[in-house]
Amino acid sequence: MKAVILKTRGAEGVVYGEAPDPVRPPGWARVRMLAASVNRVDLYMRDSGAGITHALPQIMGVDGVGEILEVDPDSGFAPGDRVLLYPCEFCGRCRFCLAGDQPLCVAVKILGEHRDGVFAEEVALPAVSLIRLAPEADVEQAAALGVAWLTAWRMVFGKGEAGPGSSVLIQGAGGGVAYAALQLARMAGARVIASTTGAQKLAHVRAMGVPAVDYAAEDVAKAVLRLTGGEGVDLVVDDVGEKTWAASLRSLARGGRLVTCGATTGGHPSAEIQRLFVRQISVHGSTMGSLDEFRRLVRAWEAGGFAPLIDGVFPLSEVPAAFARLEHPARMGKIVIRIA
Ligand SMILES: [Zn+2]
Repeated sequence: MKAVILKTRGAEGVVYGEAPDPVRPPGWARVRMLAASVNRVDLYMRDSGAGITHALPQIMGVDGVGEILEVDPDSGFAPGDRVLLYPCEFCGRCRFCLAGDQPLCVAVKILGEHRDGVFAEEVALPAVSLIRLAPEADVEQAAALGVAWLTAWRMVFGKGEAGPGSSVLIQGAGGGVAYAALQLARMAGARVIASTTGAQKLAHVRAMGVPAVDYAAEDVAKAVLRLTGGEGVDLVVDDVGEKTWAASLRSLARGGRLVTCGATTGGHPSAEIQRLFVRQISVHGSTMGSLDEFRRLVRAWEAGGFAPLIDGVFPLSEVPAAFARLEHPARMGKIVIRIA
C-alpha cells in the first residue's frame, strides 16, 4: 500500500512510498483511510521525536477517518462502516484505563508517534478505538477532530471548566488546538478573548464577534485587563509556551486556571511562583482526551455545535507540502490530507 513513511529524521526523511499492508489481530479492524489531518506533533516527530519511544521507519500521521474493510462480526461494526479513529491505542487494563482516562494509559501508543500512523491507504487498530460516523458526515471536517479538537475539548471542558458566563483567553488563536478551543469556549457560552497576529487572522477572529488582541502590537495582559474591567479571565488556554507564559499568568483573574498543551516556543518560562500562590492560580497540563470525551466531541460536532475550519486539503502524495503550509504564518485552521 502507499504511505508516508518517516525513514530518517528531517524533512528529507519523509518519503511517500510503499509500505507493507497492516496485519489485523483478533479484536482489531482493518480500515481503508479516507482522510487525515496534519498536526504540529508530525513536525516534532519529523525533526526530533525525543522522549517518544518508537523506531524508524514509521508511518506518520495521528488523526483521521476511514471505512472498515475487515472486522470481527461481534464487534458491533461491519465492513463499509465509516469510522473516526481514536488516536490512542491503550491497554484497557491499567488503573488509568479502568478509570476511563486512556491518554494516561501506562502502555499508551499514539498513532504516528509510538506506532504506525494514518498517512496510509490502510490502518489496523483495535475495534474499541473506533467511533461510528454517519455515512453523510463531512469526511474532511471529521478528519480534523482527532487531535486538535479532542485536545481542545479536554482543555476547555475537562481541565479548564469553562461554562456560561466564564471568561477565557485563547493564546495564538490561529493554531489548530487554539482555534478549536476558541470555538468550544464560545459553544459553552463563555466570554472569549483571543490573541493572534496578522491582518487576516485578526479580521477572521473579530468577524466572529470575538475581541482579538494583536500580540505583535499590544501587551496582551494589559489588553485583557482592559477588556475585563481590570479583573482578568478565569481561564487561559495556552499551547504557545515560553513566549506567551508570562502574559498568560498576568491575564488571569484571582483563582484562575492556566491550561497548557504545548510548548512550541520553548518549555522553560519563569514560573512566577509568588503570583501563583498569592493569587491562587492553578496550572494544568493536558494532552489528548479520553475515548468518552472523543465520543462527546463527535456528537457535539454532529449536532452542529461547531464546525472545524479547514485551511487547505492536500493529497497523500503531498504531505511535505502540507507540512510547509502548517508552518506558514498565514495558515488558519486545519490542513487535511485526502487519501481516498
Ligand atoms: Zn492502560
